[in-house]
Amino acid sequence: MSPGPRLRPAIAGIPGYRPGRIPTAGAAFKLSSNENPYPPLPAVLAAIAGAANGINRYPDASAAALIAALAQHLRVPGEDIALGTGAIGVIQQLLQATAGPGDEVVHPWRSFEAYPVLVQIAGATPVPVPLTAAARHNLPAMAAAVGELTRVILLCHPNNPTGPAIHRDELEAFLDAVPPDVLVVLDEAYREFVTDPRSPDGLDIYRSRGNVAVLRTFSKAHGLAGLRIGYVVAPTSVAAAARVCAVPFGVSDLAQAAAVASLAAADELAVRVGALIAERTRVHDELSRQGWLIPDCQGNFVWLPLGARTAEFAAFAEASDLMVRAFAPDGIRVTVGTPEVNNRFLEVAAAFGDPRGR
Ligand SMILES: *Cc1c(COP(=O)(O)O)cnc(C)c1O
Repeated sequence: MSPGPRLRPAIAGIPGYRPGRIPTAGAAFKLSSNENPYPPLPAVLAAIAGAANGINRYPDASAAALIAALAQHLRVPGEDIALGTGAIGVIQQLLQATAGPGDEVVHPWRSFEAYPVLVQIAGATPVPVPLTAAARHNLPAMAAAVGELTRVILLCHPNNPTGPAIHRDELEAFLDAVPPDVLVVLDEAYREFVTDPRSPDGLDIYRSRGNVAVLRTFSKAHGLAGLRIGYVVAPTSVAAAARVCAVPFGVSDLAQAAAVASLAAADELAVRVGALIAERTRVHDELSRQGWLIPDCQGNFVWLPLGARTAEFAAFAEASDLMVRAFAPDGIRVTVGTPEVNNRFLEVAAAFGDPRGR
């Protein structure tokens, strides 16, 4: 029998993105995908309902209203903004614009699982650089991994799934060491949750450097994961190239309208983000009291470095109807949810047994 149409060798070996599991039973508590546990804000729902009247039309490809709102909100030129179908879509656009066969993309590991997949889809070669023992980016090692073939460096700030953010001084030193023709992508999907004062706002770095792009999303703090909308703020030429590489009409009018409404509801949103940050602190402190040694957490999730017992913990949690994200053989990522669901997680973590006995 014929083996079928030929695929690009670079694609054939890629396992594909593994989403957090969908709860099988209605009773399951899902803390596996870093989603915002709150339902959409009323003003956001109203904007989506209004935009729904127009879905027989293609969306506004220039996203004029949203670009104007973002430019004002972030105090950046609109021409430096490019949208995509979630920040994942934007990463794909950026990689397509910058890296192909023979090129290398340096990224931290363990980090966002989409990075190596998207690099390979672009035809380029992922160069993973292990985190430090404290589960932080090893920026000196990443700088040392940059060579002639490097086109892009991805930094995850704060790092998904381990949690720590990058500090301003180490980032500046790193950027000083990187050639100015290498694009540095600062993935700030969790920016709104960062409270570490040593951590810079990526937009300040973008303003002071010619090769830094800042990635943001409406999926996490804004709670619009299901609408698929994210963006990058980048040097003008890079933003233009990212727009060229976008799926035409990929960002729907529903997503654009929801994003505009969500930006306008910044105060309401800040209350929710504040509540999630408070819960993150509570979960972190309680886990510490239980004896867990967990890294600093600057996103909407915590990291249990369970090592060889990772799968065991995931099964144990699932038996309690709690879905967490296992990254064997490194550890477990648990999203911060509502207080009730967080309490269930804390009970499961305590019942798992003496964590110091790992
Ligand atoms: C969730 C996430 C994204 C983007 O998600 P989208 O839903 O595609 O916007 C990007 N980077 C990291 C590190 C993430 O965790």
